Amino acid sequence: MKIYEKAPAKINLMLDVLHKRPDGYHEVEMIMTMVDLADRLTITELSRDTIQISSQAGYIPLDEKNLAFQAAQKIKAKYNIKQGVHIHIDKQIPVAAGLAGGSSDAAAALRGLNRLWNLQIPHEDMMELGASIGSDVPFCITGGTALATGRGELLTPLTSPPDCWVVLAKPPINVSTADVYGRFRADKIAKHPSALEMQKALENKSFDEICHQLGNVLEDVTLTHYPQVQQLKQAMIQLGADGVLMSGSGPTVFGLISRESKVARVYNGLRGFCKEVYAVRILT
Ligand code: ATP
Repeated sequence: MKIYEKAPAKINLMLDVLHKRPDGYHEVEMIMTMVDLADRLTITELSRDTIQISSQAGYIPLDEKNLAFQAAQKIKAKYNIKQGVHIHIDKQIPVAAGLAGGSSDAAAALRGLNRLWNLQIPHEDMMELGASIGSDVPFCITGGTALATGRGELLTPLTSPPDCWVVLAKPPINVSTADVYGRFRADKIAKHPSALEMQKALENKSFDEICHQLGNVLEDVTLTHYPQVQQLKQAMIQLGADGVLMSGSGPTVFGLISRESKVARVYNGLRGFCKEVYAVRILT
């Protein structure tokens, strides 16, 4: 039996870091939503008690460092499953890009294995398993649009943004999330984005107000250390995207565009700056 699962990428409509907690994690406030750029997982049962990961992408770990591997390991241990599994990851989401590709693969693996072995795992337990793999995994399990607090694992579902286009561009640099958080200084932040105002904009389905409320306090860190990201952001604004922001800790920059007629101009203009450019729709 084969199970197929889609693992979509997320973008942050807002990201605020409140403070560092005694456990070393940062207390965050984020509003995240899914976009139609997805990895595709094919999950096949093996009679031998083993976990195998394969991918056409040569640059992701295929051992226990892979988050989908960890998802399989955790489900097998918790539910005492003796069968093995092979998970093929058709990687479409850029890696280490601020788009939660690894977390989404883990979430898709949890969903897929729940179906493959007919475990009927209660939602709470799925979320707990997810959070034990990574802070973004619970959001990737529920999908949609949500406010994430705590270290990112406490979720409140929100109204999705109105249907629009998202152009994503990833410059050819790798940015480590841990490094960005390590450099972040809460006292240096001039303006914090407002989760409340973004929430209102979403409820009102106001595309203009959503664009106006976009904000990410990690931009200061990443843009200072990687001028290419700043240039990309500037280019996207000049090309006419309605709202532009870096996602997560970067380096991917996304632009929200309401009119289809503008999309090709932004997409083609950015192709001059970097190879990894995608024009997709928001997942409503
Ligand atoms: P986030 O936005 O959650 O910080 P990200 O988009 O910046 O995530 P990922 O694409 O998830 O980053 O990859 C981060 C690291 O995780 C990579 O360097 C890679 O070695 C590792 N990794 C583990 N499993 C996967 C996976 N299934 N896909 C991609 N990367 C993975």
